[in-house]
Amino acid sequence: MSGDNSIRSITASARGATRLKSGHLWVYRTDIAKTDGIAPGALVHVQDGRGRTLGSALYSSSSQIAIRLLTTRIIADSGLLPLLRQRIDEAVAFRQKNVRGSDSCRLVFSEADLLPGLIVDKYNDVLVMQIQTQAFDREDIRQTVVSALSERFPGASLFERVDPHIRELEQLPSRESQLVFGERAETIFTLNGVRFHFDAPGGQKTGAFLDQRENYAAAMRYAHGEALDCFTYQGGFALHLARVCSKLTAVDSSRPALEVAEQNEQLNRDTHSCGEIEWIEANAFDLLKDYSTAGQQYDTIVLDPPAFAKSKRNMMTALRGYKELNLRALKMLRPGGLLVTCSCSFHVSDGEFLEMLGAAAADAGRRLRILEKRGAAIDHPTFLGVPETHYLKCLVVQLID
Ligand code: SAH
Repeated sequence: MSGDNSIRSITASARGATRLKSGHLWVYRTDIAKTDGIAPGALVHVQDGRGRTLGSALYSSSSQIAIRLLTTRIIADSGLLPLLRQRIDEAVAFRQKNVRGSDSCRLVFSEADLLPGLIVDKYNDVLVMQIQTQAFDREDIRQTVVSALSERFPGASLFERVDPHIRELEQLPSRESQLVFGERAETIFTLNGVRFHFDAPGGQKTGAFLDQRENYAAAMRYAHGEALDCFTYQGGFALHLARVCSKLTAVDSSRPALEVAEQNEQLNRDTHSCGEIEWIEANAFDLLKDYSTAGQQYDTIVLDPPAFAKSKRNMMTALRGYKELNLRALKMLRPGGLLVTCSCSFHVSDGEFLEMLGAAAADAGRRLRILEKRGAAIDHPTFLGVPETHYLKCLVVQLID
């Protein structure tokens, strides 16, 4: 699309320039001057109002995020594909060095790998790619990504997962999710020795929350006795806890997710002894209320709800939701009990989450100590200038009184 060599310059407003200088990678459409004639997905040079260079970026003609910075250097069109290729190689090498004991992880995490608009996950021998911008949808860039992955992972399959909503926002023609190379998009993958089904096109076994991988292992280190896993999805925490707990109750409101969870349980029972697991389809709020009223008690409780705060506006409501869950869970913990409590709401900060837990503990009349303050696994690093890459919080706390 940006076929010629006359790369266009875009001038960022003072606010846009300050944002880039502070380390963020995005400039919003409202913070750039006119962009007539710049092709969707083009490489652009960004400058401030005085004409000083801010770097080279990928442009979107439709998204509110008009510019995603690639580098603070000025690069030519001919340098773009080699730079992307190098970044993919570096992203993959980083995971190969740092992810241990699991055959699955996020290989490319968009901004955090300076590949803004590209996500690639690896589930054993199946790679799943998600393209989120006009630039990464360009044929030449797609080809670069696909050939880098096929060279790095010979014998693997690559499946493209399409989010129609994103394609609409980026004004890209609709496209089906499909296998890009390889034979099959179905496999069995392993996290910390625990096995899971994966079936990319199947719709149900749609993968795992890979960002929780290290938190599963942490939970397994401290968990004991009778455990309750709320918002279990396909059994991520529950199947890990079953290795160390005597009895498990796992709750989710999604029947299809629980069906896969049960199949995952079977997969692990074939090779490991496993605590008894009861899968319950229910609203976790209702269940926690009923069980706590009934005086039910546990030694270990996990809370891993979906993001309650989808925007800054409903942050207060979200915090109330978190507090209700945590309060009820704390009331049900036996002395010495463990609570693993998570939030994947970017809009709720580490500090606010911790404060919420403190308030819940006070209301429950419980005293806690923090064993671990955790975030997403190392394959989902936080990019310091882009707060949006820091979203997952996971506190491991113990009831001491
Ligand atoms: N702990 C899981 C991930 C949880 S994702 C893991 O490690 O894999 C959030 C889950 O919450 C989804 O499976 C969704 O179906 C479920 N969910 C959403 N609202 C719910 C509710 N009110 N009660 C119970 N489950 C709910």
